[in-house]
Amino acid sequence: MERTFLAIKPDGVQRGLVGEIIGRFEAKGFTLVGMKLIVASRELAEQHYGVHKERPFFEGLVNFITSGPMVAMVWEGDGVVASARKIIGATNPLNSEPGTIRGDLAVNVGRNIIHGSDAVETANQEISLWFKDEELSAWKPCLTPWIV
Ligand code: ADP
Ligand code: MG
Repeated sequence: MERTFLAIKPDGVQRGLVGEIIGRFEAKGFTLVGMKLIVASRELAEQHYGVHKERPFFEGLVNFITSGPMVAMVWEGDGVVASARKIIGATNPLNSEPGTIRGDLAVNVGRNIIHGSDAVETANQEISLWFKDEELSAWKPCLTPWIV
């Protein structure tokens, strides 16, 4: 089953948007298989955003994402990598469509509240960078017996 790595950045945590953001992926029908509140080390942040290390915003980005706790998560489901990117919206929140997380909740490209892996291969790399195998749980949603 396909998995992706999502992380609510320090601005999303500090603005009290954790529940709102997680709720969107739950409501869509994806399954949460790993989650932790974590202050990323500089080394972890630099590895995570290694692809951007020559970009002018790299230093500020690493300073920002190491500045406070993030909610790091692994979500599972058919097509979850591409679907989560759609739910998150374009990188610059001023260009993100209304209805997306960034389109509804953010205005600044450097404070765009959530990260989502951009491809299945990067998702797998990011999952193993942020989580140990034993921190992930494979389980199947089974709602009806709990309700009736
Ligand atoms: P995405 O998070 O949508 O995959 P990128 O991988 O292109 O976007 O960039 C990683 C992160 O770097 C963005 O989410 C954003 O926080 C930051 N970033 C990207 N472009 C800029 C920019 N021009 N100025 C400041 N920060 C930026
Ligand atoms: Mg990216």
